[in-house]
Amino acid sequence: MCVGFFRMSRFLNPRFEGFAPYLPGVQPKSGDVLRLNTNESPFPPSERALAFAAAQLPPCNRYPELRAGALREKLAKLYGLGRENYLPGNGSGELLHYAYLAFCGGRTGVAFPSVSYGLYASLAQVHGVDAYRIPLRADFTLAPEECFGLGRTLVLANPNAPTGLALSRAEIERVLEANPDQLLILDEAYAELGAESCIPLLKRHDNLLVLQTFSKARSMAGLRLGFAVGSEELIAELNAIRLSVNPANVNAAALALGLGILEDYDSVRENCRAIMENRAFLTAGLEALGFRVLPSEANFVLAATERMDAARLCRELGARGILIRHYSQAEIADYNRITVGTRAQMERLLTEIGGILARAEA
Ligand SMILES: *Cc1c(COP(=O)(O)O)cnc(C)c1O
Repeated sequence: MCVGFFRMSRFLNPRFEGFAPYLPGVQPKSGDVLRLNTNESPFPPSERALAFAAAQLPPCNRYPELRAGALREKLAKLYGLGRENYLPGNGSGELLHYAYLAFCGGRTGVAFPSVSYGLYASLAQVHGVDAYRIPLRADFTLAPEECFGLGRTLVLANPNAPTGLALSRAEIERVLEANPDQLLILDEAYAELGAESCIPLLKRHDNLLVLQTFSKARSMAGLRLGFAVGSEELIAELNAIRLSVNPANVNAAALALGLGILEDYDSVRENCRAIMENRAFLTAGLEALGFRVLPSEANFVLAATERMDAARLCRELGARGILIRHYSQAEIADYNRITVGTRAQMERLLTEIGGILARAEA
């Protein structure tokens, strides 16, 4: 993987001088490759969800329903509050972009953990927002006190990526209480996989905006759907920006399948149970091979071993058709991030890792 250096044309806005673009995990075309590098679900949506979506799909020569009323209604039924508290987006990444536009400009800089989702830093660059990196403890956990009194909009992934470590709802509430005049954008991309959601805190705190996605636990990465949930005021502000940037941001197919998935939500819960079981299986298997594995509440684990350099392990697995994610960032350069897949995929991965390590040590 190579970092694309920007050769500026004379037309580029000078603000982007030295810009380091966000690097998504590689997405190979070949069907033979086992993708454990982008945290997708290994499970397709259920037959029932797909059938529901097919029956709902409006003619594609028409714009999608711009207000996404039915989807917002269903989200409100499932997670509480009212439909005016929800705003769907083209993935939660899009909503994060709108949240930066709405809540991070001008006087208010942004703060996020020193090890976190790469998009937070690249969006700060895109929006010209000053960013403070909140230090983590040596074990990658976040002390809530580190988030107190920074005077900035806070952006936290919970569980954090790529560590998988989560704060409890009570700890998040301490952050909200310590910063009543700062907004906390809480990215719950990995909701439903073990960590407590903080949506219930919205009843008591107006300085919280929660983002969730259908890309991970909800099997819909390819169609792009996410949502924001917050006070009616915050949602109206985000919606005003959405209407002014991309009013048809959620396409008709994504809306239809999103509804179908909520219609058959038991199958999402069942898939999440399987992922959590496979996560425990993967963790135990890696530990048996001499890895230390952070206790994850997401559909990936971050793991390191003294037995082999992490970048090399990533390359060796790649040569055998298994993609995992290595980050060159110094704090986590000893680790790889591995997406939790099916039981059979995890067995194949562990067998390959065992073989690679044994051969290297022979
Ligand atoms: C995957 C991910 C997202 C969202 O991705 P979308 O596909 O744009 O919804 C957001 N935050 C984190 C931490 C993620 O890992």
